[in-house]
Amino acid sequence: MLTSLSIAQLEDITGGKALGSRRDQLISQISIDSRQILHPEQTLFVALRGAKADGADFIPELIEEGVRVFLVHEGWSVDEKLMDLASFIFTKDTRQALQKIAAFERSVFTKPVVGITGSNGKTIIKEWLGQVLSQRFAVAKSPKSYNSQVGVPLSIFGIQPYHQVAILEAGVSKSGDMETLSRMILPDLGIFTNIGSAHEEGFSGIQEKIREKLKLFSASKLLIYCKDQHHLAQEIESQISSDKLISWSKKSGADFSISWKPLEGKTRIVLMKSDLNTMTFQVPFMDQASLENVTHVIIAALTLGEDIPAIQEGLDHLKPVDMRLTLKPGLNDSLLIDDTYNNDLAGLKVALEFMSQQRPKRSKILIISDLLQQGLPEKIYSEVGELIQSYGLDQIIGVGTEVKRLEKLFPKKSKTYASTEQFLQNVDPESFQNDLLLITGARSFAFEKIVNRLQQRIHGTTLEINLNALTHNFNFYKKQIKPGTKLMVMVKAFAYGGGAAEIANHIQTMGADYLAVAFSDEGVALRKQGIRLPIMVLNPVEESFDLLREYALEPVVFSPEFFKKLGLYARYHQIQLSIHLDLDTGMHRLGFEEKHLQELKSLISQFPELNIASLYTHLVGADEEVHHDFSVQQLEQFMAMKSEIVSVLEYQPLVHALNSAGIIRYPDYQMDMVRLGIGLYGVEVTGKHDASLKPVSTLKTTISQVKELPAGATVGYSRKGVLPNGGKIATLAIGYADGYDRRFSRGNGYVLIQGKKAPVIGNVCMDMVMVDVSELDEVKAGDEAIIYGEQISLKQLADQIGTIPYELLTNISTRVKRVYYLD
Ligand SMILES: *Cc1c(COP(=O)(O)O)cnc(C)c1O
Repeated sequence: MLTSLSIAQLEDITGGKALGSRRDQLISQISIDSRQILHPEQTLFVALRGAKADGADFIPELIEEGVRVFLVHEGWSVDEKLMDLASFIFTKDTRQALQKIAAFERSVFTKPVVGITGSNGKTIIKEWLGQVLSQRFAVAKSPKSYNSQVGVPLSIFGIQPYHQVAILEAGVSKSGDMETLSRMILPDLGIFTNIGSAHEEGFSGIQEKIREKLKLFSASKLLIYCKDQHHLAQEIESQISSDKLISWSKKSGADFSISWKPLEGKTRIVLMKSDLNTMTFQVPFMDQASLENVTHVIIAALTLGEDIPAIQEGLDHLKPVDMRLTLKPGLNDSLLIDDTYNNDLAGLKVALEFMSQQRPKRSKILIISDLLQQGLPEKIYSEVGELIQSYGLDQIIGVGTEVKRLEKLFPKKSKTYASTEQFLQNVDPESFQNDLLLITGARSFAFEKIVNRLQQRIHGTTLEINLNALTHNFNFYKKQIKPGTKLMVMVKAFAYGGGAAEIANHIQTMGADYLAVAFSDEGVALRKQGIRLPIMVLNPVEESFDLLREYALEPVVFSPEFFKKLGLYARYHQIQLSIHLDLDTGMHRLGFEEKHLQELKSLISQFPELNIASLYTHLVGADEEVHHDFSVQQLEQFMAMKSEIVSVLEYQPLVHALNSAGIIRYPDYQMDMVRLGIGLYGVEVTGKHDASLKPVSTLKTTISQVKELPAGATVGYSRKGVLPNGGKIATLAIGYADGYDRRFSRGNGYVLIQGKKAPVIGNVCMDMVMVDVSELDEVKAGDEAIIYGEQISLKQLADQIGTIPYELLTNISTRVKRVYYLD
């Protein structure tokens, strides 16, 4: 934070009223997360009410840890005993209060603040601009993409007095959001990255979207934008006076006319100002999106007074990857958190927090380089030292000469090396077994070499899982259900292909109530990987009874015979087992029918060893309007069957019926719990809220080879791909054995290369597929190809070959590496 605040000041700023005993406490840290508190006595804990919890619930625990000042909602009933120990500031709305404190802190910062908004590229521009400016300045920037109503305040609290420039990004999801963000950020210099044409829920159209985003710059001195975005330029030029605008364009008529010239794997960027003064830079990438982003970066750096050689120096080190925290499978069951592109304090904190949320492993190891942040090294390293201690790491491997300062704070087994090379020469990769490693280093240390050495060997195809999108979708469904309704998440079939353990772990931290798997061994695998939530098993078999017992898994029971078998098993072993009853109301797959109810009731009384944890049914057509009457009939029949069963019970089991589509279409039938599946993974099957969910997985591969072929050449088995006029093809490292469906053959599917469509040519092979890239320039081996993801929707792809998104998701072979990231 920039300045410490007294309780009287906080009352003033928030308009709140303080009660309690610690009126003299000064605040220099603000936290909204009870798990992330470093200096309890100096911390203000702001109790926010979220989808999963009320922050106020953690107050007694936090007082125990030493936190003394709290911001709480009016009406929160405080225990008299707590009053003696702490101070409580009561406000109408704690989120607004948090934002007011942020606006106050911002007002104290007198150096330039850069504000970035737009549809795409915000985070990358922020990171790159930060890199370029840090050649000469001490830069504060939002960690990751902390750009929301709560993320922006946290970003602002990260600004320290020694910073010379701050870069903050702002993201909005509906009308009205930007005003609050704008009051907090108050950018001196603005960057409007671009505007996407995609429909976004919360906005009626593109103009409204632009106008909302423009509010960020209402008090800015200068705004940078690209004139070639016609809608955007029109709107900006009609709303903001021209002396505040800095435009660029690939044509003439802008403040900067730009040309991009490809040059042996790089691009030369020439900027010509209206006075015909020209400047030339070189950047290490060629794709359109990166060039657009980097052009914004160059113009912003020039505007802030950075000189040309320093900008070029900064550009030389940029990487065309985004700065994401990724979780990758390592050797010997280890897990790697790859944070090799992020090396500042704020980033380290986010990464350590991410680490603390992972499944338990043998030991927690941090591999860290010198921090090449501008600023006060003593202060920075003392903060790093505190972080290291508070996150309970088992081992630290320091690389570089500066981190050595911290050696005395390192746990016992720690080591330091002078350079990355030295580490690589001396490390035995086999020494890491079932460990959790966080690898974080400044760019110049090239820590990607360490990641390469320690990660599982893989081929070129990866399935990337966006954990932020998963969180977003989880919260979307959580908002659809009543506060008391529980949420069971279906992680059967390897969590719809996404990787069961990581996804289960993530939603366990998110606050899901129950998990469900198809078979007992899926449940066993989750338990072995440290998942603690109750787990329902849809299709257990008699052979797995011992496993169910040993791993505390809860089987679904679907017939009288099965009930009896399990009951006798429990009696023989003198144990209680929790079970779930599947009632068949029309699916006709598994389940008790009406004719079984009498027998079922008598079995229930016969076997008190079996505790009925829940009763459920499954809808057959909740996604489609045509089945509406049938769905309602199923739900009503279920209610009747359930009442009959419950009448013989002395306790209340959970009652549930809705899957993802049902949650959307039948809100009146939420009952005690809902069962979320495909929606969590980003597909809204009813089509009513397409724009509200975020795609979770991106399947990517690489080009192995590019070939120029003459007229009449054929491609692949059975000569099915024909190039009458010749052309250029690229061979990709994915085939039907990886889950790339053979029905995509012969132009039925396409992939994206450099953002452009490349249709499949010929038949899909077992491990490879060829695509036509005749229309693309500059395609080369090693380039990335997107099979599906944000730009290619699963629904569309599934339609194309007459299947459903479920099948595409679950078909991805386990040999495809899953990588998890936070963006
Ligand atoms: C798979 C499954 C679900 C989840 O269905 P989605 O359509 O993916 O939401 C719910 N309940 C049962 C019994 C299931 O088998």
